[in-house]
Amino acid sequence: PLSTTDLIEEHRICVCVRKRPLNKKELTIRDLDVITIPSKDVVMVHEPKQKVDLTRYLENQTFRFDYAFDDSTTNEMVYRFTARPLVETIFERGMATCFAYGQTGSGKTHTMGGDFSGKNQDCSKGIYALAARDVFVMLKKPCYKKLELQVYATFFEIYSGKVFDLLNGKAKLRVLEDGKQQVQVVGLHERDVKCTENVLKLIEVGNSCRTSGQTSANAHSSRSHAVFQIILRRKGKMHGKFSLIDLAGNERGADTSSADRQTRLEGAEINKSLLALKECIRALGRNKPHTPFRASKLTQVLRDSFIGENSRTCMIATISPGMTSCENTLNTLRYANRVK
Ligand code: ADP
Ligand code: MG
Repeated sequence: PLSTTDLIEEHRICVCVRKRPLNKKELTIRDLDVITIPSKDVVMVHEPKQKVDLTRYLENQTFRFDYAFDDSTTNEMVYRFTARPLVETIFERGMATCFAYGQTGSGKTHTMGGDFSGKNQDCSKGIYALAARDVFVMLKKPCYKKLELQVYATFFEIYSGKVFDLLNGKAKLRVLEDGKQQVQVVGLHERDVKCTENVLKLIEVGNSCRTSGQTSANAHSSRSHAVFQIILRRKGKMHGKFSLIDLAGNERGADTSSADRQTRLEGAEINKSLLALKECIRALGRNKPHTPFRASKLTQVLRDSFIGENSRTCMIATISPGMTSCENTLNTLRYANRVK
């Protein structure tokens, strides 16, 4: 039988959807689950059996993706079909990116970082940690062991077009582009990591830095992109890089007249970066010569991951099952559909 790696070998872009279960709040208000995953790659937004007017949401739509994960799927399983095949890419001198895209509360951080809600924070089950675990497993394979690769990690945040180092007390960083169009985040801390435990510690540090000093942690994190990177170096030179990104919430509404100026600006910046991201991924899939990476800080910082022979990307679109989220869910599915 073919391994999951063989199956997607030909594809530089993998797009999948993950549905989360109805949460307590949705259950309390008796929200209806309007999402069905009838087969492993099909997502349906259906009209609920109870009589509700869904006409303004264009009901009964079907979307097809590389994979569709229902609400019983574990992080480990999602990981196996999405980021896992990209671990090989960075060992083969490639660049890999994995994005979690969706509205606030749909499960992006749960998927990428692990569970940070409540007191028992556990980041060992998130895709950041699972990818790091497999990097250290691969490192022991004889064919890679002889390369004497060194592993480093970075963790930063992009908020309102500015970059902050989450492994260095949220220091604000400058982004520079040289004459050869090489983009550099000046002073970004690259931490030397020797084992999965080292990485888990950094994820914890970075995450608490991400949400510290904020009156509402989620309000802040939902408006910023978090980028976690695993970098392989050989004799100091970059060998491969894996960027794992927990994107800002894609919901609209922040640009309405009722919001304050700062919120409107944040919203506009998020829209701009998510649009630029879509175009950059599409350009990657079509081998277009011009990638509009300069259109946002996010795509500019990720520039080297969108170019080159051996660049691969994966998008995990996270969706809420509730009817109350229908409009955002359809927007998420349409965006993901365009990225394919
Ligand atoms: P986002 O980062 O997209 O804003 P979160 O990852 O913070 O969303 O998820 C919101 C809440 O839903 C969290 O309490 C999280 O633990 C829970 N959740 C998200 N996805 C799942 C899932 N697949 N299974 C169970 N709980 C989930
Ligand atoms: Mg989040």
